[in-house]
Amino acid sequence: MANVSKQLAAFCRHDPALLAIAEKVSARLAATWNSRANRDSPAARYADLLAAADTAIEEQKARATVALPCRAGCNHCCQFQRITLTTTEAVLLVRHLEERTPVEQKTAVIAALLSSSPTGVENPPCAFLTEQGCAVYASRPITCRGYYSLSESACRAFLADKRTPPQNLMATRIVELAVLETAKAFRHSQFFEINGLMRRIYSDPAKPAQWAAESPTDESDLAIDTKEMLGG
Ligand code: SF4
Ligand code: SF4
Repeated sequence: MANVSKQLAAFCRHDPALLAIAEKVSARLAATWNSRANRDSPAARYADLLAAADTAIEEQKARATVALPCRAGCNHCCQFQRITLTTTEAVLLVRHLEERTPVEQKTAVIAALLSSSPTGVENPPCAFLTEQGCAVYASRPITCRGYYSLSESACRAFLADKRTPPQNLMATRIVELAVLETAKAFRHSQFFEINGLMRRIYSDPAKPAQWAAESPTDESDLAIDTKEMLGG
């Protein structure tokens, strides 16, 4: 077996077709990642990786044997998923909010962030979901990009009662995992709940510019309840 970590291989162990996808996608993402090694900005390198992942995700969607219900304007998933992100992904979100988001939408996001739960263990809905849709769509984390449900009604039902999670397309989740493996995020990054980390950044007017510049941040931004991290 080539180009697949033990973790990703274990995820695919009952499905040879998924493993084949994991191998192929991992090899392509690794080629992109390695070719961008001289990028002076880790965030720019990661953004290139996300662009390659988007291509892989579109290919897997095109090969799906069922019609996927996901479409613009459908956003139950943004209200029930617990979105985690790395610090590099947080840099991309801050840049998008500061440089590419219309003022009115940005104001709504910051208000939602600042009123999100300060308890340490956050809950959806994602504060970046606005009346106009996702305020940072082009820069959204890989967790959002890889999630495709097989049933819109299942998503709607899950949002209402949280009993039965919707089935989702595993091939695109494989791309999501392959991105995190390729960027070595599991080894080198902590994962943070989106509202919690972004609220800490936007609680201090000086911090968004620091994050956008990828300069080291106040450690207190990252000193959080371990339950907020993936697997914590
Ligand atoms: S995952 Fe569910 S809620 Fe999200 S876009 Fe697809 S069908 Fe809609
Ligand atoms: S970042 Fe955007 S796509 Fe992801 S959960 Fe939030 S609103 Fe939805």
